Amino acid sequence: MSSLLIRNGLVIGPATQEIQDILIEDDLFTEIAPVINPPENTRILDAGGKWIFPGVIDPHTHMGIPIKSGHSADTFGSGSRSALHGGVTTILDFTVLESGQTLAESLNTRIELAGESLCDVGIHVNITRFEPEILAEIPELIARGFTSFKVFTTYAEANMMLTYDQIEAVAKIIAQHHGILMVHSEDNDVITRASDTFNDEKETHPRYHGLSRPAEAELVAVRQLGEISSRTNCTIYVVHLNTAAGLAKAAEYPLLKVETCPHYLLLSDKMYEKSDGRMFVSSPPLRTDADSQALWLGLQNGQIHTLGSDHCPFCLSDKPMDTPFQNIPNGMGGVETLFPALLAQFMERHLDLELLVRLSSRNPAKIFGIDHLKGGIKPGLHADLMIVDPWSINDNWESKLDTVLDWNAYTNFPALFPETVIRRGEIVIDEGSTVSPSAGHLLKSK
Ligand SMILES: [Zn+2]
Repeated sequence: MSSLLIRNGLVIGPATQEIQDILIEDDLFTEIAPVINPPENTRILDAGGKWIFPGVIDPHTHMGIPIKSGHSADTFGSGSRSALHGGVTTILDFTVLESGQTLAESLNTRIELAGESLCDVGIHVNITRFEPEILAEIPELIARGFTSFKVFTTYAEANMMLTYDQIEAVAKIIAQHHGILMVHSEDNDVITRASDTFNDEKETHPRYHGLSRPAEAELVAVRQLGEISSRTNCTIYVVHLNTAAGLAKAAEYPLLKVETCPHYLLLSDKMYEKSDGRMFVSSPPLRTDADSQALWLGLQNGQIHTLGSDHCPFCLSDKPMDTPFQNIPNGMGGVETLFPALLAQFMERHLDLELLVRLSSRNPAKIFGIDHLKGGIKPGLHADLMIVDPWSINDNWESKLDTVLDWNAYTNFPALFPETVIRRGEIVIDEGSTVSPSAGHLLKSK
C-alpha cells in the first residue's frame, strides 16, 4: 500500500474551512484530522499556508466531437491533460448518436474514445432520435450505471431535436428508473423566427449570432421543461443556462437543476465586436452584462447548482476570419481555465470559497450519482484534490497552459492555477507541471 500525508493545508470543503492533515492510502482518503501520525514510509507533502480543494468535476465537456467540417480541437487525451492542469480530475462527456446506431452502440463508441482520458470520466447519453427501440434502451442503460440522458429542444436542421411532447415521454421513462434528463434549452421556434431575419446573408458579422438566438428562446424552453418536470416528476438538468429571464423561470420549478458556464459569467456579447469576435461564437451565445450579473446572483442564492465548461474548443484556423456567423463552428474551450479563473473571481468578489466547492465538486457528484466516489475530501472517497498557493494569483498564466489550443477566451483575466493536483491518490500535477499520469477510470453512477 502506498501512503501520502498532506500536512497543514487549509481544507476548503463544502461546509468547512479548517487546517487539517489529510492521509491518502492508495487511491482513497482514509483520514482527515488536525494531526495525523502517518504509517511508516509515508510520503509527506507540506501544504502549510496553502489551500486544498477537492478535485473539480466538470459535468459538461465535448472532447473531439464531430462537426460539419471535422472535429472539435481536443481529443480525450489532450483535453483531459489540460483539464488536470486546471484542477479538473473528473469530466462528464456526451455520446454522439450516429444515424442507425443504438444508444448502447453510441455509448460503447464513446467509452472506447474515452479510454485515453487522463481524468476519470463519466458519459451522458445523448438521445437525438425518438424511436421505440431507443426509448426501450433507457432502463437497460440506467441499470448499467449510465443514468444521465441529454436531449435538445433545437437543432432541428441537424436532426437532433426532440419536440416537447417527445421530451415528456422520455422524461417519464427516466423518472420511473431514477435517472436524470439533461436538456439543451433553446426553443426552436423562437430561434427559427429570429434566424430567418438573417437569411438574406447581408448581416454576417459574429454580433448577429447572438441576435439569431435571442434570450427569449431560453425563457420559452425553460418554462416548457419546468412544466414537464412537474408533470413527470423527472429531475431535469438545464445545461449552460445563460439568461436572467431563464434563471428566474427555472427557479420556479423545484425539479429543475441549473448549470451555467464561465463564459456566461465572465464574458458578454461585447466580445463579438472584438477583432477575434468570431472565436466567441458558441451556442447559446454570450449575453448582456445584466444577464451575467443575474447569474452571479444566482450562484450566491442557490438558484444555480453547477458550473460546467461546455468545453468544445476550436483553434484560430478552425474559425477563419470573415466567415459568416452562420458557418462558424460553435464552441469555445474552457476546461483548463474553469476553476482557476473562477477562483480568482471568487477572491476578487469576496465570495464564499465553500460555495465554489459545492458548485464545482459536491453538487455535480450528487446530481449525477457519483457521490459514493467523489465530490469532497472525506474518508472513503477517491483522493482527488488540488493544492493552491493563494499568493500565486496572476495575469501571466497563458504561456503555462498545457494545451494544444492556440486561443483562449480568458486572456486578461486573473487566474489561480493549482501547484499540485492529485487524482485517485496519484500526483498528476507537481509544481504546476504534468507528470505522466496513468489513465483515468470510467465512472458509473449508483
Ligand atoms: Zn455542450
